[in-house]
Amino acid sequence: MTLFGLGLLGVLIGTHGVELGRGPYGAAGFWLFSALLVVAELFPIGVQRDDEVDEITTSTTFAFALAIAYGPVPAALALVAGSVIGDVARRKPMWKTAFNASQYAISVIAAGVVYGYLASGPPHGPEALLPLFASAATFFFLNTILPGVGLALVNGGPLVRQVAHDFLFQAYTAPALLALSPILLFAADQSLAFVPLIVIPIGAVYWGANAALENVRLVERLQINLARAKELNRMKDDFVAVVSHELRTPLTSIQGYIKTVLQLGDELEPGQREAFLEAADRQSERLRRLIEQTLIVARLESHVEPLTLHEVAVQSLVDVVVHELSPIGHGHTFDVRVPADLDPVRTDEGKVHQILSNLVENALKYSPPDTRITIRGEPGVNGILVAVEDEGPGIPEEERDRVFDRFYQVDGTATRQVGGTGLGLYICAKLAEEIGARLWLETTDRPRGSMFCLFLPGSAAPPRARDAGDPQAIADPPGGRRDGSDGPDEPGQSITASV
Ligand code: ADP
Repeated sequence: MTLFGLGLLGVLIGTHGVELGRGPYGAAGFWLFSALLVVAELFPIGVQRDDEVDEITTSTTFAFALAIAYGPVPAALALVAGSVIGDVARRKPMWKTAFNASQYAISVIAAGVVYGYLASGPPHGPEALLPLFASAATFFFLNTILPGVGLALVNGGPLVRQVAHDFLFQAYTAPALLALSPILLFAADQSLAFVPLIVIPIGAVYWGANAALENVRLVERLQINLARAKELNRMKDDFVAVVSHELRTPLTSIQGYIKTVLQLGDELEPGQREAFLEAADRQSERLRRLIEQTLIVARLESHVEPLTLHEVAVQSLVDVVVHELSPIGHGHTFDVRVPADLDPVRTDEGKVHQILSNLVENALKYSPPDTRITIRGEPGVNGILVAVEDEGPGIPEEERDRVFDRFYQVDGTATRQVGGTGLGLYICAKLAEEIGARLWLETTDRPRGSMFCLFLPGSAAPPRARDAGDPQAIADPPGGRRDGSDGPDEPGQSITASV
C-alpha cells in the first residue's frame, strides 16, 4: 500500500505535471494553506484511547481545502510533505512515516478527483454542497479504512474489528475537521488575510482542548498514584498491626518465664529453672529474628533496597551457604550436585545468598537429624535452576500456596518444636521477585520431604529495571490520525559433607 500511494502520486506528477500555484488564490494561497498544514502536523493533540494515544491534527482541514481549490496533486504533495515533516519531528520509524504519507496521498488524491469530477471550481454556492459532501466522504472513508487495513495486516488482528475501532473514533473528529475547509475557502474568497483570522480562534480552541486533555491525563495519573498511596498506607497499617501482635507473643512468654523464676525462686528444681531459662532464651532469639526479619520486610516492601548485579557463579555460592550453615545441622548430610561448568548468572549475589541460606536453614530446621539435604544446580532455558530438597515431613498439599505468605507457619502453635517467624519464605519470595527470579515449592510424588526450586534467569533484567511495553500502535489513522527447568540432568560434580 505504501508503494501504491506514493507511486500513484509519482505517476500523476509524471503524466500531468504539477503547477503548485495554479488555483483561485494563486501561489500565495497555496503556500499559506501548505504552511498552516505543516504547523498543524507539527502540533497534534494526543487523545488517550484505551491503552494507546491517538493523535488528532487539523492538517486534514488544510489538505482538503487545497484539494478543492488546487486539485488532487498539489494537495497530495503538500499533505505528504507535511506528514513526513511531522513524523520525522516525532521520530517515527521510516516505514511508518512512509505508510502515513502514502495513506494521506491516496485519500486526498481520491477526494480531489471526486471533487474535480463533480464540481467545477471552489465552493461558491449551494450547488457545491453535493460535490463537497461526496469528496469529504471519500477522504473520510479512505483515510479511516486504509490504516485499519494496515494495522490488521501488521498486527494480525481481525480486519473488521480494527477498521470499526478507528471508524468510530474518526466519526467523531473527521467531519468537523473536513467541514472547516469550505469555511476557510469562503474566507479566502474575500481575502487571503481572512484565513489567519479564522485560523487563530480555531487554533485557540484547539490549544484549549489540548490543555484540557493534558489536565484530564494529569488528574487521572494523580488519582492512580493516590489510590496506590492509599493501598500502600493500608498495607503498612496491617503490617504494623500484625507485627506488634507477633512481637508481643514471644515477649509475653519471656516475661512469663522470668517472672516464674523470680517468684518461685528456690522452690524450683534446678532442672525446672534451667528449662524455663532455656525457653526464655529461645523466645528472645525468636524475638531478635522477628525484629531483624521485620526490618528486612519493611525495606523490601518499600523497594529501597538497591540491586547490585554481578556475574555470579552458582556453584561457589552454594558451597559458601553449605559451609556457613553446616554448624547448625544435627548430623545432616549435604549432597551438593552443582556442575562446575555451569554458566554464571548476572544477578544480585547478596539476595541469592539470602534466599538459598533461608531455604537450606529451613531444610535443616524441619528435617530430622541424620537425614540428607540435596542441593542441585542445573542449566535451564535461559537461566539456572537451583533446587533444595530435604527428607523432612514435607508440606501438605493444601498448605503449599500459603507457606509464602507473610507470617504463615504450617504449625503455628505455641508448642511447635522449632523456632521461626513465618517470614523466611515470604522474604525469599520477595527477594526472588526483586531479582526477576522465580521461587516455588515443587510437588513430588514422594510421600515425604520438600523441594524448593529457584530459577535464576541468565541475563534477564530484573522486573524493576524492565521497560514497560510500548503500546504505541503501528500506524496513524486518519483525519486526525492515530497516530521449571527442563535442562538436561547433567552428571554434576558432587560434594558430600557430613555435619
Ligand atoms: P519459619 O520462620 O516459620 O520457618 P518460613 O516462612 O521460612 O517461616 O516458613 C513458613 C512455614 O513453612 C514454616 O513455618 C514451616 O511450617 C513450613 N516450611 C518451610 N520450609 C519447610 C521445609 N523444608 N519442610 C517442612 N516445612 C517447611
